Amino acid sequence: MRVRHFRWEHGAEIALQRWQVNPWIGKTTFLFGLAVLIAIRAPRNRRSGKIPVIEKRSTAFDTTLLLLTATVTGILLPFLFLLSSFLHFADYPLLGLPFSAGILCLGFGLWLFYRSHADLGTNWSMNLELRERHQLIVSGIYKTIRHPMYSAMFLFALAQALLLANWIAGPGFLVAFGLMFALRVRAEEWMMLEKFGQSYEEYRIRTKRLIPRLW
Ligand code: SAH
Repeated sequence: MRVRHFRWEHGAEIALQRWQVNPWIGKTTFLFGLAVLIAIRAPRNRRSGKIPVIEKRSTAFDTTLLLLTATVTGILLPFLFLLSSFLHFADYPLLGLPFSAGILCLGFGLWLFYRSHADLGTNWSMNLELRERHQLIVSGIYKTIRHPMYSAMFLFALAQALLLANWIAGPGFLVAFGLMFALRVRAEEWMMLEKFGQSYEEYRIRTKRLIPRLW
């Protein structure tokens, strides 16, 4: 009986090892994704920064909180996991299936991030604000969903959770972004409704927030 039990455990261990991916492959893929994300955003940040803001809905406190949470969970914790043994107590083995799902989320998320930045143009802001000659964008990727950039960030956060095999560095950004989204989306839609009135109301009725035709 003990021998059979041992054999089963041993077999399960071998099966698990066979499905394991070197955690550094997950870490390197994540780093590559983060670099692409920053490369997409940086020039657009500069371009829209040149257009004056005419209405600001976020306070300095909101902005600091947003930047701090995103930096801690999206950059600091992953780098702590990558470069030190500080978070190793929360490590787990990286398996093939979550790794492949992570790559899919990363690829699709980065594409969506690029598309939404391209369609939103200089109307983009990190904060809740309206720029001079702000235009309501309802075409391109914005034709089907109202918040494609947030969908892209959710996909990126999901990729981080799947590629970094650590219970803290992995899902940290997903939790933080979920909270940020919940706190922000209504205020953003309210601001757009006040600015664009009937046009935004009609746009709101014919589109979904994050997932086409679903939600
Ligand atoms: N929520 C959108 C945009 C994120 S950037 C998305 O996920 O794709 C946030 C800024 O974009 C807001 O401050 C607002 O000024 C602007 N914005 C949001 N939706 C917009 C739209 N449909 N057209 C133009 N600007 C928009």
